[in-house]
Amino acid sequence: MELLKEAKKYLVGGVNSPVRAFKSVGCEPIFLVRAKGSKVYDLEGKEYIDYLGSWGVALLGHAPEEVVEKVKEEAKKGLSFGLTNPYEVKLAKEVVEAIPSVDKVRFVNSGTEATMSAIRLARGVKGRKFVVKFEGCYHGHYDSLLVSAGSGVATFGLPGTAGIPEEVARLTLVLPYNDTNALKEAFERYGEDIACAIVEPIAGNMGVVIPDLEFLKELRKLTQECGALLIFDEVITGFRVSLSGAQGLFKIEPDLTTLGKVLGGGFPVGAYGGREKIMKELAPEGSIYQAGTLSGNPIAMVAGYYTLLKVKEERPYQKLHERTKELAEGILSITKERGIPSTVNYATSMLTLFFTDEEVRDYESAKRSDLKLFAKFFKNLLEEGVLIPPSQFEAWFISTAHTKEDLERTLEKVERAIKRL
Ligand SMILES: *Cc1c(COP(=O)(O)O)cnc(C)c1O
Repeated sequence: MELLKEAKKYLVGGVNSPVRAFKSVGCEPIFLVRAKGSKVYDLEGKEYIDYLGSWGVALLGHAPEEVVEKVKEEAKKGLSFGLTNPYEVKLAKEVVEAIPSVDKVRFVNSGTEATMSAIRLARGVKGRKFVVKFEGCYHGHYDSLLVSAGSGVATFGLPGTAGIPEEVARLTLVLPYNDTNALKEAFERYGEDIACAIVEPIAGNMGVVIPDLEFLKELRKLTQECGALLIFDEVITGFRVSLSGAQGLFKIEPDLTTLGKVLGGGFPVGAYGGREKIMKELAPEGSIYQAGTLSGNPIAMVAGYYTLLKVKEERPYQKLHERTKELAEGILSITKERGIPSTVNYATSMLTLFFTDEEVRDYESAKRSDLKLFAKFFKNLLEEGVLIPPSQFEAWFISTAHTKEDLERTLEKVERAIKRL
């Protein structure tokens, strides 16, 4: 409580990112001081089984030994050079090999920067203004993309456009997720002015929502027909649902892909990439400008590189899928037994428990979840020693460090937390 008081004195709301304030779940936030494997530890030394996973960063669990060692070694050689270092090339090669639709990549410092830059590139290449996005999808806090966004914007019920000029917001067309008819109408009407459509190919920021394959296929077809680019925002799903992301699972090729989270191995890294003929329009080869003092930072590149090497070596997706399924089904049997309205959506290594019996397939249905019940559940679970994201509109993340025993203990704690609702 003392540190929180101090934090609130010097930081807005005591935090550097809004959801960390735990406002929507109505309890005081915790401070974390250590994270290892599947566990995190707060200031008072309390241990939590962690499903926040640093918002999707920690695919291999927290602080994997191999990555930490390489980071230490590299740090001794210098912290930032400001010119190109060999690890940028190594990590870029791994990304290009992992994701078939990406010929070339540009590293930036966050997911927000990646989506912002991808949109600039799309607008620059196409000479058009409109961007299509989907309700409940979150692509970072860039002006054009904060309109009807999920994640923290959803959590706080913000209009999403405060501080964003109407003229800018008007260039973003917002459509419902998973609604193929709305897609067809919008493209028919505005097709020739659309520069690009951006989508979370598996949504994580309104809670987990699985796309209909038909919806994504139609989006691919319509963007192609009207000469717009399709951007898959794989900041969460990249390297998480398969080595080649959601596009690998669904066998749909976007024109541009944005990455982040897992890619930085715990450091601030984002990336965007795509076909050679699009990427070459970027400076210094082309005329579309985008730059960064710390882009390709050597420590961050080393962390990302050794993370991807380990992911490639382990190929953990089958195991992650099974663990996620086990947890999802376990939770559902607990809630159903007690007659609590509930739906669990999941994909490899990510899941969300919604407090509604209705199928959740878009933002509207996600919003019908009982948020008061969620807040109580979150608090109970926290007391039991399980950390999940402090918002209904987020995904829980399962890492390769989560053991069967972790899952069993989690289900026991979930059962107690549900009993106490
Ligand atoms: C987290 C996220 C972003 C933004 O990344 P930051 O690193 O937080 O800027 C963009 N898109 C998606 C899908 C995300 O989940």
